[in-house]
Amino acid sequence: MSITVVGSVAYDSIETPAGRRDRCLGGAATYFSLAASFFTDVRVIAVVGEDFGPEQEAVFAARNIDTRGIERAAGKSFFWEGSYLDNLNEAKTHNTELNVFAAFEPKIPAAYRDSQFLFLANIDPVLQRRVRETMPDVKLVAGDTMNYWIKDHRPALLEVLKGLDVLLINDTEARMLAGDNNLVRAARAVMAMGPRALIVKHGEYGATLFHGAGPKGGSAERTFRAPAMPLDEVVDPTGAGDSFAGGFFGYLASQPQLTPGVFRRAMFYGSVMGSFAVERFGTERLQQLSRQEIDGRFNLFRELTHLD
Ligand code: AMP
Repeated sequence: MSITVVGSVAYDSIETPAGRRDRCLGGAATYFSLAASFFTDVRVIAVVGEDFGPEQEAVFAARNIDTRGIERAAGKSFFWEGSYLDNLNEAKTHNTELNVFAAFEPKIPAAYRDSQFLFLANIDPVLQRRVRETMPDVKLVAGDTMNYWIKDHRPALLEVLKGLDVLLINDTEARMLAGDNNLVRAARAVMAMGPRALIVKHGEYGATLFHGAGPKGGSAERTFRAPAMPLDEVVDPTGAGDSFAGGFFGYLASQPQLTPGVFRRAMFYGSVMGSFAVERFGTERLQQLSRQEIDGRFNLFRELTHLD
């Protein structure tokens, strides 16, 4: 099974209490594909500028990620600058430069067309929709977005939501999208916009899977919570959400059947990948990771939550 992902491939400048890094390789599709590549084949659709060179290309190649859908354009790659000085759970954006993404027309290589899984990582919802429309026969479509698109590009985003099976967003975004501060009601409202399942990420507190609108007054039987790994140091939270998504969706794509149990385990693999991503700056930790370490941490998660 393979996953096609569309999203940003970027340079990030990041400041956290642990230090600062300028122009390191980032982008939602980058974190997602590195994380998912430990579970299944991954193919990327994106655009980069002339500043994207062999060193960056090698990061994808080392994980066997298919980059034939990464177009090179004249100009500079997407650039994002953010900090986490007051709150490690929420990035403060200082600068977003779309650069080559501003005029991007996604083209899906013929070799990608048999992908059964599609992930619409965080990017302009107009682009997400275009890619979704060119791959109508996929088995499962999941997507992500952020406050920037929820606030200023709502109509386009609502069109994307109609075509999603699973939406992954953080809790501030879920409340903002639904216009309701109660998370259970917000989840119900978001699912009424299209997705059959919603994963709400709570940063260092884990993530909640909502599937199916629960009966009035309680939806516990259709809710599943995965914890986050208690870590003694979070170096850089950037990409935690995309790495969660990569672990979650990568694991789903690697399974023969999508049972409720598989969805629950996928939530744990999401948490595992998010927990690794934050241990170093940028994608450094994901580049150094092994499948053995992933399985080891999955077992730790089991112990963390086992009752008997
Ligand atoms: P997260 O998993 O939410 O921490 O995602 C972090 C990544 O999102 C960074 O590597 C950024 O390059 C990327 N990013 C930030 N803003 C945007 C945006 N408006 N559109 C697409 N990608 C973005």
